[in-house]
Amino acid sequence: MDSKSLFAKARTLMPGGVNSPLRACKYVNAEPVFIENAKGAHLFDVEGREYIDYVFSWGPMLLGHQDPAVNAAAHAAVDHGSSYGAPCLGEVLLAEEIQKLIPSMEMMRMVSSGTEATMSALRLARGYTGRNKFVKFIGNYHGHADAFLAAAGSAAGTVPGTPGVPEEVISHTLLAQYNDLDAVKKHFEESGDEIACVIVEPCAGNMGLVLPEEGFLQGLRDLCTKYGAVLIFDEVITGFRLAPGGAQERYGITPDLTTLGKIIGGGFPVGCYGGKREIMEHMAPVGGVFQAGTLSGNPVAMAAGLATLKRLQECDYATLEARTRALTGELASILEGKGKPVYVAQAGSAFTLYFSDKPVTNMIESGRCDQATFAVYWKQMMAKGVYLAPAGFECAFTSFAHSDEDFEKTLDAARAVAF
Ligand code: PLP
Repeated sequence: MDSKSLFAKARTLMPGGVNSPLRACKYVNAEPVFIENAKGAHLFDVEGREYIDYVFSWGPMLLGHQDPAVNAAAHAAVDHGSSYGAPCLGEVLLAEEIQKLIPSMEMMRMVSSGTEATMSALRLARGYTGRNKFVKFIGNYHGHADAFLAAAGSAAGTVPGTPGVPEEVISHTLLAQYNDLDAVKKHFEESGDEIACVIVEPCAGNMGLVLPEEGFLQGLRDLCTKYGAVLIFDEVITGFRLAPGGAQERYGITPDLTTLGKIIGGGFPVGCYGGKREIMEHMAPVGGVFQAGTLSGNPVAMAAGLATLKRLQECDYATLEARTRALTGELASILEGKGKPVYVAQAGSAFTLYFSDKPVTNMIESGRCDQATFAVYWKQMMAKGVYLAPAGFECAFTSFAHSDEDFEKTLDAARAVAF
């Protein structure tokens, strides 16, 4: 079956034909292609068309698809049984590896998605402090748990209001613009003894890539310390991507709790939250904060995650960042040559190319970018075999599997775009 027929069938079976809203390509007025295979930096659709991938399953596949070591580890694990619901060696080995790379995670708990990780970290922060309110940033996305769906980024930002989320649930969610430390200070001045935590994407990736301004993360650290609130870095995207030790290594700021997902599963469903021992020991069965999971610490996912983290430590992050910078710089100049002002935000191997003549530092500025032009760009890049996220408010990712030839072909595709 071709993609068009599959999508027609899928729409009769799943809302919008998809299992996650952005995949429907609604925000670029298009229909998705159905993927049959993925290898290295390339995707192959059901009609045999090949694409250079810049989505990588929305971040997890930093090594590229089907890395031989990761595949071998996953196959070997399956041969020992795919789920036990009991402690296993793999979860200890992965936790040890994570702790080595992110020392602030003195203890941790494995879950099955980023959503579960952030939702559990929030509950833990509340249980630990005995407070209910928390600060989140407009345009940051922390998964789809109720409390985070206030002014969320990514596809959640396109849904008007938050149907299905009782007002009382989000009445504890205090909002601030990203990079606006004064707004956070004001929340603390007004209700400091009621704020359990501040949760932040230390480099935001769900309103397009938005970098933290100088002093922003340190300011959050200082406010949380001053008021006895828990600082949570949501590193579901940035963990192991911006550096082997994530954004906290790159920016040199230590949170109290960290949430992870995506890369730590090596393409399998995994999340993780962890941090200070004193806080983590409030989790059941040691403490009273409850959280559990049938598939938590799944042996196949643990094996793939461990193989991924080990392989990443052999990889040259600085070179990938420099190669990505050369790519984004050239892309920008090609598009500017066609009369379209472009602002590129990049951190490591993540970037967003905004159709904007101004820098983007928060959701207001991201929202002003030219999405109609992005849709024209997206369609023509796809037609030339360059697979980009189907919305202008998302990140693009490069990987250790991209070749110089892949980047050259991407630039050729951009040169051919007509607005
Ligand atoms: N946190 C961040 C920063 C994310 O980008 C995402 C997903 O994109 C999540 C949490 C939720 O993760 P998941 O989709 O695995 O539930």
